[in-house]
Amino acid sequence: MTLETTARLLDGRATARAMREAVARGCAELQQRSGVVPGLAVVLVGQDPASEIYVRNKHRAATKVGIRSQIERLPAATDDAELLASVARLNADAAVHGILVQLPLPDHMDERPVIEAVDPAKDVDGFHPLNAGRLLIGLPGPVSCTPAGIIELLRFHKIALAGRHAVVIGRSNIVGKPMAVLLLRENCTVTICHSRTTDLPRIAAQADILIAAVGRMAFVTSEFIKPRAVVVDVGIHRVEDEQTCRGLYGDDADRLRAVRERGSTLVGDVHPLQARERAGWLTPVPGGVGPLTIAQLLSNTLLAAERTTRS
Ligand code: NAP
Repeated sequence: MTLETTARLLDGRATARAMREAVARGCAELQQRSGVVPGLAVVLVGQDPASEIYVRNKHRAATKVGIRSQIERLPAATDDAELLASVARLNADAAVHGILVQLPLPDHMDERPVIEAVDPAKDVDGFHPLNAGRLLIGLPGPVSCTPAGIIELLRFHKIALAGRHAVVIGRSNIVGKPMAVLLLRENCTVTICHSRTTDLPRIAAQADILIAAVGRMAFVTSEFIKPRAVVVDVGIHRVEDEQTCRGLYGDDADRLRAVRERGSTLVGDVHPLQARERAGWLTPVPGGVGPLTIAQLLSNTLLAAERTTRS
């Protein structure tokens, strides 16, 4: 049985497909115009299974749109100096336009010096402090992929942003903060909430655009949502038991079957049943924010390659 829904779907898969098609066209044009093939290097330290999957997916997606992708694998026992040397080699390689060091690094390594070692012009994750600063003062440069992808999602669905109140729950450097700055750039009035915010549901319920990047399963319930608000759910969590699944998805047969037959289904930071009944627009999980992150990475890589032909 399919559930009755009122919220319209913010379709991350369709948006990501359109973004990838645009990158593929851009790569072909760039090569024709200047002979440059955009190059992406992904550095993977160790063998974390989730990171392996992410890196493989990025490599495959890049290759499909015409980006020359390479994976630089380093053993789990690599020390900081070896990783920095590897980044320095990629910084100096003119065929590499984008560098991404897959996070998290093994526990014995420090992420900050590695992020700062990547040439800001090749920082396709947008994590370098220089790029975070450029974003803040409105200069062009690579922007963190998940929030930049969310702006593309909102544009794709022609969601009006100027003058509207956006509330971002979460203030991480990779999602919450850049998301808030991007919404400000789109002329939203922006409120940022976090774990010390008092009366969070009341503030969230003022939002025309509500972005949930909290990292807590089904945290955003009806009382957080203004009727007909646009709700973007950044979270990803695995639900492994049937009772929790019923609490989140009711009698949704596909979700229950996924838990019984495959052992789990996914849910975000937003309570799906409650949000569907109250929001005007909603991202599904999966198929909402997830696909946008890789598509934006491809777009950032193409932009980095294009910039080298202009300077
Ligand atoms: P994070 O670094 O853990 O940040 C979570 C933020 O939520 C923090 O700012 C924290 O506030 C705030 N928070 C935590 N508990 C709260 C509470 N009870 N009330 C209000 N605010 C609270 O997480 P992140 O990296 O931003 O990611 C957020 C979620 O998005 C995670 O589920 C992550 O897995 C997911 N994610 C998905 C994608 C994708 O491609 N779909 C990409 C990136 C992240 P404080 O700062 O006060 O601690």
